[in-house]
Amino acid sequence: MASSAPPQWPPEVTDEQREALTLLATTYALSHGLVYLPPTDGAQPPAPTSVIHAPLALFPSPFPRRQFELARSLQSNYNAMYARIAMAEDFLDAVMGAEVGVGRVDEFTGQLWRIWKRLRSEGITQLRHLGLFRSDYLLHKPEKGGPPQLKQVEFNTISSSFGALSQNVAQLHRHLLAKTEYYNSSPILKMENMPPNDTIAGLAEGLAAAHKAYGSPSAWILFVVQNGERNVFDQRWLEYELLEKHSIRVVRQTFEQLAVSAQVVPTSRILRLKLPGQLPRGAESVEISTVYFRAGYTPNDYPTPAHYETRYLLESTVATKCPSIQLQLAGGKKVQQVLTQSIHYQRFVEGWPSIYTESGGRVRESWMGMWGLDEKGDQGVQKARDQAQNLVLKPQREGGGNNVYKGDIPAFLDTLPREEREAWIAMELIRTPEGLGNYLVRAGGGTAGAVKTEVVSELGIFGWALFGGAYGAIQEKEVGWLLRTKGKDSNEGGIAAGFSVLDSVVLY
Ligand code: ADP
Ligand code: MG
Ligand code: MG
Repeated sequence: MASSAPPQWPPEVTDEQREALTLLATTYALSHGLVYLPPTDGAQPPAPTSVIHAPLALFPSPFPRRQFELARSLQSNYNAMYARIAMAEDFLDAVMGAEVGVGRVDEFTGQLWRIWKRLRSEGITQLRHLGLFRSDYLLHKPEKGGPPQLKQVEFNTISSSFGALSQNVAQLHRHLLAKTEYYNSSPILKMENMPPNDTIAGLAEGLAAAHKAYGSPSAWILFVVQNGERNVFDQRWLEYELLEKHSIRVVRQTFEQLAVSAQVVPTSRILRLKLPGQLPRGAESVEISTVYFRAGYTPNDYPTPAHYETRYLLESTVATKCPSIQLQLAGGKKVQQVLTQSIHYQRFVEGWPSIYTESGGRVRESWMGMWGLDEKGDQGVQKARDQAQNLVLKPQREGGGNNVYKGDIPAFLDTLPREEREAWIAMELIRTPEGLGNYLVRAGGGTAGAVKTEVVSELGIFGWALFGGAYGAIQEKEVGWLLRTKGKDSNEGGIAAGFSVLDSVVLY
């Protein structure tokens, strides 16, 4: 039975019970790879000797069943829609390009677009793309009252993280229920209200599908990773799944390592990595079928022109990229905003003769109002000043910590040069329902133990799409979910950025 009123949360527990749950939770997390590398002063040691548990919520957070199911059912539409956007070269040139689009005023977008332009002038060698996506949502309280609505925060096409750890935290909450029944603290805390989460298998299946389509079974998959990454286990779980379930080997390399190890076979444009002493049977190099980027989404990942050159090199090969540069560009905030204009929405969602053709405008109903700050002379900026308290401004960046909120907007607009307006979008704030709390458990930092906080939860739905090959068909799937929960007073929600914790849903 779906009821509309959210339950009282968190449920009542005594101090003793809370402490017992915290011990069970942190030890389960440490036992089951729900972990990070610990912070260090400098580089991570080459072979780590310790971990800390990931930040986590002690209880799963209530989420309305209907909106959860809606989010999952939208994912196939989004998978197909972003595949189509990535293949729409004219659209991406116009919106993200460095001649007429955002790439003119945003240096990073321009760099990526110029690499893509160069690749096109030389002839694209691999038409197939893989996307491992995550579509993020918050619940929105309509002004007129009524049930909460599902509203999209953003759509990620590169380095969508926490798929593996979200599965582990859902398992953790099921474990706590099995072990303690959460001390009967709430009637909705039942297994049947805690949906399964098989994101690890689902994301690995996407990578394996790309590998298979490439057609060289003994090739490996390359994970391009950041220097000093602490969220390595979220990636390792995918690596283990690929080996155990699909017999596919993975190698992890940074852009710096790839500058030395990557080789492109002339004419065939096959990507091979030289890994002396690290390959079975004394081989010197290995063929790569698929390049999975868990780095390269921020300008910080390209401190020198050589880093962009390495990205170009990888892109210029016949290996399937996850994502290709054009699919990365498709995930830009500017694209998200432009899609709210009917003409583009029609093109990508409604106009295509496909089984995924969206019915009833449900995708569009999941969007908040958005506009470009460069819109209609000064009007875009004026509107942002007038409505500042109801807005967030976003640049073309990923990874958290880049947005400008509410009261900070007017002063920010005072200093924003006119020519940079085009790089920013204004988005109406999603007004999340109030009154839910949880116990947030973070390792170290002087706040060890469970801290009771009023919270906001952001739902992410994972999906993949393999598309653009010889027949142009889109293969895609919705594969799982993530809940991130943050204190209600924090504007941002990044786990890696330290704002939120991993959580799971209990449906009501
Ligand atoms: P990033 O790509 O850096 O993750 P997001 O668009 O996801 O950028 O914004 C970061 C965070 O800011 C989100 O996780 C969410 O907590 C908050 N946020 C973004 N857009 C909105 C919005 N329209 N309403 C309320 N909060 C938002
Ligand atoms: Mg985000
Ligand atoms: Mg993002």
